[in-house]
Amino acid sequence: MEWNYEGDRGPDKWKNICSAFYQAETGSLQSPIALNDDPQLLSISQDLLTFNYSKTVFETSFFNHTVHLSPKTKEKTNIIEFNHKKYFLEDLHFHLPSEHEINQKSFPLEFHLVHRSVHNELLVVGVTVLPSERPINTTLAALDDKALNAGGGLSVPIDLDRLLPENKQFYHYTGSLTTPPTSGPVEWIVFRQQSFMRQGLLQAFKKNIGKTNRPLQPIKNRPIYLSIDE
Ligand SMILES: [Zn+2]
Repeated sequence: MEWNYEGDRGPDKWKNICSAFYQAETGSLQSPIALNDDPQLLSISQDLLTFNYSKTVFETSFFNHTVHLSPKTKEKTNIIEFNHKKYFLEDLHFHLPSEHEINQKSFPLEFHLVHRSVHNELLVVGVTVLPSERPINTTLAALDDKALNAGGGLSVPIDLDRLLPENKQFYHYTGSLTTPPTSGPVEWIVFRQQSFMRQGLLQAFKKNIGKTNRPLQPIKNRPIYLSIDE
């Protein structure tokens, strides 16, 4: 089913496009949401989240209006453990501008690391991104633009740990996928701090991908956690 980020098939109309989209949107708590440091947040131990990522070669593809990277090998080499459960990375993709808001702030980009457990449960790590302050390297920027313009089929080696913010404090809540069908439950981990991206790459994303963020969804009293060091 065709859907979009504006117009007749924009986010406020997704649930009218087909019964599967309707079921997904009305049958589970939705994402993204606004995340704020307020006293109502519950605490969760920082130790409940561990990353076991390694350098990985990804293959690019283009669907759902954005660029996706999936590990080239089917070996499950990138693992995160959350709340004593293991999840394996299967996809990395991008939204512009950010989908989650953190303390009333929106960011130029947010990427999602989509993981799945052996029991088919989904966990998505959301990382909001700011431009780095280094000046634009025009050679690199031209390559970025070409890569994002290629439509897919490129092999890209990535050191995943370097994509994550240094400070790993996170929000956690239960929501949904942010593209149709927006089904849930999805366990969300969103870092409170931003990571940084080359300005040239960010510009290439803006030019080649453009607006790809779902608006904020009602929180509806669900618990939201903020991690604390214990
Ligand atoms: Zn996403």
